[in-house]
Amino acid sequence: MQIDSSSPVMVTGATGYVAGWIVKKLLEAGVTVHAPVRDPDNPEKLQYLNAIAEHAPGSIRYFKADLLAEGSYAEAMAGCSVVFHTASPFRTGVADPQKELIDPALLGTRNVLEEANRTPSVQRVVLTSSCVAIYGDNIDLQDTPDGMFTEEIWNTTSSLEHQPYAFSKTVAEREAWKIAGAQDRWRLVVVNPSLVLGPGINPHATSASFDLIRQFGNGAMKAGVPDFRIGAVDVRDVAEAHLAAAWLPDAEGRHIVSGHNTTFPELARTLIDQYGADYPIPRRTMPKWLVWLVAPMVNKDMTRKMVSRNIGHPWIADNAKSKEALGIAYRPLQESMTEFFQQLIDSGAFGEE
Ligand code: NAP
Repeated sequence: MQIDSSSPVMVTGATGYVAGWIVKKLLEAGVTVHAPVRDPDNPEKLQYLNAIAEHAPGSIRYFKADLLAEGSYAEAMAGCSVVFHTASPFRTGVADPQKELIDPALLGTRNVLEEANRTPSVQRVVLTSSCVAIYGDNIDLQDTPDGMFTEEIWNTTSSLEHQPYAFSKTVAEREAWKIAGAQDRWRLVVVNPSLVLGPGINPHATSASFDLIRQFGNGAMKAGVPDFRIGAVDVRDVAEAHLAAAWLPDAEGRHIVSGHNTTFPELARTLIDQYGADYPIPRRTMPKWLVWLVAPMVNKDMTRKMVSRNIGHPWIADNAKSKEALGIAYRPLQESMTEFFQQLIDSGAFGEE
């Protein structure tokens, strides 16, 4: 793939987990990255990106912007050929899903893509959507035509009350296709990752990916792990998919970017040999009835409806398009998990440094 470094590109959410690797790969390819961030004067947040830029052929410029502040991406986008729209909150246990998830996802996408309409240099917009814009609950698999999730399918079961994060990603991606379809200057290409794993550029990232893997080592799941089946993908493969989506001439449409159809018990098993002696890695699978009973008391997002419709139900997605059209060769799950867990240990996530 030929990366065109002759004009700058913009990456929203550059301080985040997924975007961190996109920015790293862009800088290493010699690209000038415009990074609109909420707080460009916070050196602590930018230190990891700055450290990469220092030794890479590309360069990074920061701008001040917020997903909810209309027009705030204009300066950062000026002159850019590609816009990577990655910023969107990925958090669990929020108190006000409308304000904390749906508004930034939906209004943010509208804000960034309408700015692309006003910016003549933009030729392509790569949107970081999610597999949760394809399915809401695992049980939705039963209604798929071929018994697997594909790019043809949309999440129709999530709402503000049930799986609000999935709902936020669904309404945001739908809005993106609507805005893209109303013009013909720039092309929208969408990346739909499953659960992203692997070491971050920032070892202290706030992405929910970190919260989950931390629970495998801090004893929170010592009694057993729910039989939650899920797709997983390495963060570096996700970044590669974004670059391919930006520069492959024929890239189009949505792309399921998911390396492995896996389960929480299998994720835990990848850690047992290397870390089982020193950390309380879950070794047992918790029965569904017990999860149904206790989960709502310990985790606000694990409602009884959520447990009923997900735990023990298969998750199968077709990742063929990402391999064929974007050329992604997925890393082994074991590698993503052990490197991620080791980073958590090294950064003091389990109380030692
Ligand atoms: P993350 O580390 O929490 O990154 C989220 C980014 O969004 C941060 O840079 C954050 O900036 C920015 N952001 C949030 N609210 C904002 C606002 N109001 N204005 C401007 N920026 C705002 O999460 P992530 O895991 O990297 O997720 C990045 C993208 O990947 C999201 O679109 C997410 O839905 C998608 N995704 C993630 C996964 C996964 O498993 N991690 C899977 C599928 C899709 P601050 O640093 O200022 O907070």
